[in-house]
Amino acid sequence: MSETLVINGGSPYKTKPFPQWPISGERELELITEVVKSGNWWRMTGTMVDEFEEKFAKMHDTEYCLAVTNGTHAIELSLSVLDIGRGDEVIVPALTFISTGSAVIYCNATPVLVDVDPETFCMSPEAFEKAITPRTKAVIPVHMAGHACDMDRICEIARKHNIKVIEDAAHGHGGEWKNKRIGSMGDIAIFSFQNGKLMTCGEGGCIVTNSKEFYDTAYLMHGVGRPKNDRTYQHLVMGSNYRMSEFHAAILLAQLERIEHLNEVREKHALFLDNLLEDVEGITPQGRKEGSTLNPHYMYMFYYDSLYFNGMSRQQFVDALIAEGIPSFISFPVLSDTKFFKEQKFGRRIEGYDYSQEADLSNARKIASDVIWLPHYTLEGDTEDLKDIAGAINKIKNAGR
Ligand SMILES: *Cc1c(COP(=O)(O)O)cnc(C)c1O
Repeated sequence: MSETLVINGGSPYKTKPFPQWPISGERELELITEVVKSGNWWRMTGTMVDEFEEKFAKMHDTEYCLAVTNGTHAIELSLSVLDIGRGDEVIVPALTFISTGSAVIYCNATPVLVDVDPETFCMSPEAFEKAITPRTKAVIPVHMAGHACDMDRICEIARKHNIKVIEDAAHGHGGEWKNKRIGSMGDIAIFSFQNGKLMTCGEGGCIVTNSKEFYDTAYLMHGVGRPKNDRTYQHLVMGSNYRMSEFHAAILLAQLERIEHLNEVREKHALFLDNLLEDVEGITPQGRKEGSTLNPHYMYMFYYDSLYFNGMSRQQFVDALIAEGIPSFISFPVLSDTKFFKEQKFGRRIEGYDYSQEADLSNARKIASDVIWLPHYTLEGDTEDLKDIAGAINKIKNAGR
């Protein structure tokens, strides 16, 4: 027996709502009120940004953290700290959020796109090594959806060729590779605190590093070149204003109190959902490498094969899922398939790189065309939510028979 889909006039499969995102509570209100009343609204006179940086660095086993305006700026700042610019190449995975590549262009350097692993969706170390040229200055592995990249291989290859590693950990707060924290293995790592990320203050980001030299340079650059406690308009290096406000840090301090617990809940629930979907033909969740000892599951990603869903297109399936009460999205596109890459609309920042002559990106292309993802808060409720996800998928499948 099949039930009528919502898209055909039926009623939604999911009746109990998922947990709300963002999560907030008394702590957010308490800390932000403290900032309002203190009158210290920027980091130069406040304490919240300093306190957040100290705690976030500790959580990621790094010496230093510098809070900034957002994750995109964190990548630009990292590249600037490493003196990467005109004429340089930076290797990035073809499958990621646009900023990983566009930030490179913003710094006048050329992003060179490489393929990802078909199981973990993370940058392939082999593809990385193959793309290295004498111009390559850095690599930006992305810990896709919270699954750590193979950092042993990537760091080994990078060291061999004298290439800097910038971890894009926008999905990886608190995650691990072989019991080492995401963000602690490269030269610099970036995080995002944008509204949808695993912890958020609406818009925000940071870099973490173990290098005092990189931290000191980043500090100067993030405050238009001014040293700490400058009152005489010293501008020691060229920079911009990437400073985080005290309001943002107050919210992040409260969010920090929940993150480790939520990571545990998502780990447990992703596994539970994997098991529920194991026998559903046409649905294949993102795989897991042994080295991924803690995956915070920023997204729950899976391949969708329309053959097993009576030819229903991926977009139709996502629309049907949303109608049944399950929030879902199609994958990021391959970077070079976006309009501005295709038309090479890079302004005057970079010229003369031919993206039609790219390396083989077939894994990234397959993911971009077939994968669907569910946002992390779908894993933050109870097991009933997970049964509802699997139930809604099966309802759509049976209706198509
Ligand atoms: C969100 C995201 C960014 C950019 O972060 P913002 O804070 O939104 O600027 C960078 N890389 C990846 C992989 C992301 O998902």
